[in-house]
Amino acid sequence: MDEAKEELQEVVTFLKQPERFTAVGARIPKGVLLVGPPGTGKTLLAKAIAGEAGVPFFSISGSEFVEMFVGVGASRVRDLFKKAKENAPCLIFIDEIDAVGRQRGAGIGGGNDEREQTLNQLLTEMDGFEGNTGIIIIAATNRPDVLDSALLRPGRFDRQVTVDAPDLKGRLRILEVHARNKKIAPEISIETIARRTPGFTGADLANLLNEAAILTARRRKEAMTMLEINDAVDRVVAGMEGTPLVDSKSKRLIAYHEVGHAIVGTLVKDHDPVQKVTLVPRGQAQGLTWFTPNEEQGLTTRAQLMARIAGAMGGRAAEEEVFGDAEVTTGAGGDLQQVTGMARQMVTRFGMSDLGPLSLAGQTGEVFLGGGLMSRAEYSEAIATKIDAQVRALAEHGHQIARQIIRDNRAVIDRLVDLLIEKETIDGEEFRQIVAEYTEVPEKEQFVPQL
Ligand code: ZN
Repeated sequence: MDEAKEELQEVVTFLKQPERFTAVGARIPKGVLLVGPPGTGKTLLAKAIAGEAGVPFFSISGSEFVEMFVGVGASRVRDLFKKAKENAPCLIFIDEIDAVGRQRGAGIGGGNDEREQTLNQLLTEMDGFEGNTGIIIIAATNRPDVLDSALLRPGRFDRQVTVDAPDLKGRLRILEVHARNKKIAPEISIETIARRTPGFTGADLANLLNEAAILTARRRKEAMTMLEINDAVDRVVAGMEGTPLVDSKSKRLIAYHEVGHAIVGTLVKDHDPVQKVTLVPRGQAQGLTWFTPNEEQGLTTRAQLMARIAGAMGGRAAEEEVFGDAEVTTGAGGDLQQVTGMARQMVTRFGMSDLGPLSLAGQTGEVFLGGGLMSRAEYSEAIATKIDAQVRALAEHGHQIARQIIRDNRAVIDRLVDLLIEKETIDGEEFRQIVAEYTEVPEKEQFVPQL
């Protein structure tokens, strides 16, 4: 996490040599907000700063402040700052600050008094000490959008550092750390694992190698092979493996559903390529189609979003075409939720519908108590009706693309379903080869990150 490290290097200097800044009249920041999804190493980073600067580290979680008894939270804040002042220079780390720091008055029924008192106490304490007492507060959150604006004012948490999921290079370095005490077969390079895990956080990677080690032990092997790594990746992403269904009508239906996703994903040019299709249940899912995500952290085009909508519709479309409208199942529930979410964003955030280039979304983009209700009123009832119509049109368009592909490729779909029921898993390469015997498969450009 080179960017985050760069920014925080300065905090270490603040703690170690504050005079370098005060000499030229610079005000030392009091608070730094680390923003990023869970598991990306925000706590570790804060600890590392304290360690590097050689100062004490006080840590508390936002959820610990919010107790059932009135006044406990506020007194905890007072105690924490008292202890910190006695030990200055030092670093205070507040994890999950959104648990106390939410926008005041945003809850149902006037908000949570206890939480508000705690937040007020925190603000008072932060204002109460001067910048050069040598106390720096680092707070972590994955929801900066819900924080009370008073927290983000100058003199409080006025610096934000983004801590995101690591890129390829970052994953490689993290894996090297966690692989130190593991036995890995010599033919596996850590780079292969890093390439296999886009989107994984540091915690996911640690978890992945541990799961792979457990599988290795269970299979009584000397060292983990790519087999264990791949199984562990699936497990971390999609949950525990279940027992496959016996061949039955519902297994056939699930097979058609998954092949539906995979064939639409394969034949729509702008869709990510299929990695594998499987009928081995995991977590809630009875079957799964995996796609290889493009790791380029760039922009997403309208065509790509449309392709994803069509791909997500592929499952339901196959059920309809093969079994008829009366036999469609609840299996597409998650797919439809995804489709609706994407279509709504296309209309309200990205100006990709007939409503034109307008942003019609609230600030948070999510319905949140209080805040979300207010942002709803930003457009008229008439616009709301139009939005719904556009969302429906986009979803229906994707649905029609998917149904057409299923109709046009019924022969290969039947063959793939038989093969899937027999083998339980088909990998992407084999899937594409079989489809290519029947129809032209579009080339897909995959961005390969360089080390
Ligand atoms: Zn599905």
